[in-house]
Amino acid sequence: MEKKITVLRGDGIGPEIVNEALRVLDAVCKKYGHTFTYTDVDIGGCSIDKFGVPITDEGMEQCKNCDSVLLGAVGGPKWDSVDPSIRPEKALLKVRSELGLFANLRPTKLFPQLADASPLKDTVVGQGIDLMIVRELTGGIYFGKRSTTETNGEKVATDEMLYTEHEIERIGRVAFESARKRNKKLASVDKANVLDCSRLWRAVMHRLSEEYPDVQYSDILVDNTAMQLIRDPGQFDTIVTENMFGDILSDEASMLTGSIGMMPSASLSSGTLGMYEPIHGSAPDIAGMNIANPLGTILSAAMMLRYSFSMTEEADAIEAAVNRVLDEGYRTGDIMQEGMKKVSCSEMGTLVAERI
Ligand code: NAD
Repeated sequence: MEKKITVLRGDGIGPEIVNEALRVLDAVCKKYGHTFTYTDVDIGGCSIDKFGVPITDEGMEQCKNCDSVLLGAVGGPKWDSVDPSIRPEKALLKVRSELGLFANLRPTKLFPQLADASPLKDTVVGQGIDLMIVRELTGGIYFGKRSTTETNGEKVATDEMLYTEHEIERIGRVAFESARKRNKKLASVDKANVLDCSRLWRAVMHRLSEEYPDVQYSDILVDNTAMQLIRDPGQFDTIVTENMFGDILSDEASMLTGSIGMMPSASLSSGTLGMYEPIHGSAPDIAGMNIANPLGTILSAAMMLRYSFSMTEEADAIEAAVNRVLDEGYRTGDIMQEGMKKVSCSEMGTLVAERI
């Protein structure tokens, strides 16, 4: 099969981790006889430096006219004080919204080999962690109107949170379908005791739940969820939530897996075009040192094969290769434990590629 992939390396550790994912994809091509063509597009700070905007119109076109997009990460202190309208993250929001990537899947899986790398006690993570967070990605407070004005001599800032029924329903369907393919258990996270958006969210989810009687459905408040994820994460299977809650909860959940560097994600549209990226940021503190963990990006590439290209066997091969490398005791610094073999970012990528 031939596929066109737009590659957004971005800033900080972005280029390092994406290189390793491409190395693994090349190994997949070699083994299974596929041809993947990569086209690089600058995004985030590097694009601001070159073009004065976080992504150019030509770059956006390239993202729209391909089979899939692979992203590293954007941002860093160098661009923290640029005009808010051209901040690096603006490019991400633009790609998500213009490509219609409304559903963000964040599988949170603890590889048993890394149980000791999680800061939580074995009694909490010992039975294994395998949950799917379905985050709404193109609505809510990140996309609402915002302003900073001055009233009575003091500054006042507003961020609008807005959801339509149809936005809630389409992410709800993705979540119910996802739960159906897993353990048929879905928790919808909201703040319905305070927010109108959440009350609408809950009403729509309840309506949908009647269409999925085989899925065990429950509502849970976001603050309680934050606590339950640490107390007893095994109670969850699939979680669906709005944009900002999903952003925060998935970072929290990443620590169940030992490191944020392990977690992949898929941002999906109603078609097959998707964007795949690790959930972490550009990690400026370790950029350029070849010590970042590339496994979250490599596992994102596996999700790309599974969801956008329907290459199930190839996706399984990447996940199996990651498993083998961990079984053999190789670890990047963030998941390093006593007695294991410490490797760099590029060594980790090479080890996974060799095992495809
Ligand atoms: P971060 O996720 O970049 O880093 C948090 C911590 O985790 C750091 O200590 C970092 O070294 C570590 N870490 C992250 N990824 C790692 C990996 N693969 N291997 C090993 N360690 C890893 O979050 P931050 O420091 O809050 O943000 C840094 C920049 O990234 C900011 O400019 C922020 O806006 C941006 N950001 C971008 C995205 C994105 O591109 N999708 C997401 C979140 C944050």
